[in-house]
Amino acid sequence: MKSPLLQENVTLAPFTTLGVGGPARFFCEAATESDVQEAVGLARVKSWPLFVLGGGSNVLASDSGFPGLVLRVATRGVKAIESDLLAVSAGEDWDSFVQLSVEKGLAGLECLSGIPGTVGGTPIQNVGAYGAEVGDTIASVRVLSRSSGEIMDLDRQACGFSYRGSIFSGAQQDRFVVLGVTFQLRADPRPRIAYPELMRFLGEKAASASLAEVRQAVMQIRRGKGMILDPTDPESRTAGSFFKNPVLDADRCASIEEAARQLGVLDEAGSMPRFAAGSGCLKIPAAWLIEGAGFRKGFRKGHVAISSRHALALVALAGATAAEVLDLAQEIRERVEERFGLSLEFEPVLIGF
Ligand SMILES: Cc1cc2nc3c(=O)[nH]c(=O)nc-3n(C[C@H](O)[C@H](O)[C@H](O)COP(=O)(O)OP(=O)(O)OC[C@H]3O[C@@H](n4cnc5c(N)ncnc54)[C@H](O)[C@@H]3O)c2cc1C
Repeated sequence: MKSPLLQENVTLAPFTTLGVGGPARFFCEAATESDVQEAVGLARVKSWPLFVLGGGSNVLASDSGFPGLVLRVATRGVKAIESDLLAVSAGEDWDSFVQLSVEKGLAGLECLSGIPGTVGGTPIQNVGAYGAEVGDTIASVRVLSRSSGEIMDLDRQACGFSYRGSIFSGAQQDRFVVLGVTFQLRADPRPRIAYPELMRFLGEKAASASLAEVRQAVMQIRRGKGMILDPTDPESRTAGSFFKNPVLDADRCASIEEAARQLGVLDEAGSMPRFAAGSGCLKIPAAWLIEGAGFRKGFRKGHVAISSRHALALVALAGATAAEVLDLAQEIRERVEERFGLSLEFEPVLIGF
């Protein structure tokens, strides 16, 4: 690796949307695939821990930083293999690519408008919003194996997409660097709208809305919740949702509903909100559990708050530290567990804790 690419003691805070986090011992921004290969090889040879960073919109970096190499993937390029089959480099900005797809009249990504981060970051947790999941549009993911250095294409099946998960997340998080994603879109000007909130927002237009109108509606809904990065909106200094919505079987749901009745969160006739999540499972809004555990939107602890517009988002206020963000997240998790017997899973990935 050419030494100018490798920097030392680089503060991570500006590379994350939460804006907290100390220095990476080594830091490298890779603009080409061979830079990525070299950086991964160097970390292997030197036995440095390696963290792969995209847009930093789904991470919490610790105040003490990261004791190894942070590799920021900044490769660029969008190539049409066929008119509706697009190969995109991992470092491309996600929302710019969504906008391009809408402008080209290609359907599939419009409901995923306004999500920050890179294209390479999207398969990791199978990003989803407003009734769409990115995995449904992915034909294949081009990856570099961190252990062997081999480059390969994984088809959609091999990516193991699930609700906020894939083979690139969780226990297997350190296996691959995503180099690019190939999207199979639909050359169809008619969006498929399935999400009730989006349908309500579009009203009479829902049946005939264009891709551009759906994109605009999603952006407007998101802006109202502080879910679009906006330097003028202090409530958008977040990592998006901090907690995943639990997916449970019917028995587990019934026991949580019973706990809610005992706590007076639900009356005898009331029922817990839930959504079908396939295979007989149900998705429970984590926001409902958090509010049921007694946390209000806008609740503030030190320099961290629950967004006043979105109960799942933790906002880093001026002067916040990573320890404070984690502290509030843990307090919420503990209180929900105490009350409902269920441990919420964090959505952002922790760096250096
Ligand atoms: C305001 C806001 C709104 C959001 N709304 C949504 C939403 O609606 N739905 C949703 O699903 N998410 C949402 N998010 C979370 C986040 O934007 C997405 O998860 C995004 O895809 C993360 O991409 P990134 O490039 O920023 O990844 P990073 O935050 O940099 O990294 C996240 C994880 O992906 C890994 N990673 C990133 N790039 C690569 C790569 N090239 N190869 C291997 N691993 C990689 C990292 O190692 C880390 O584990 C939101 C975040 C914010 C701040």
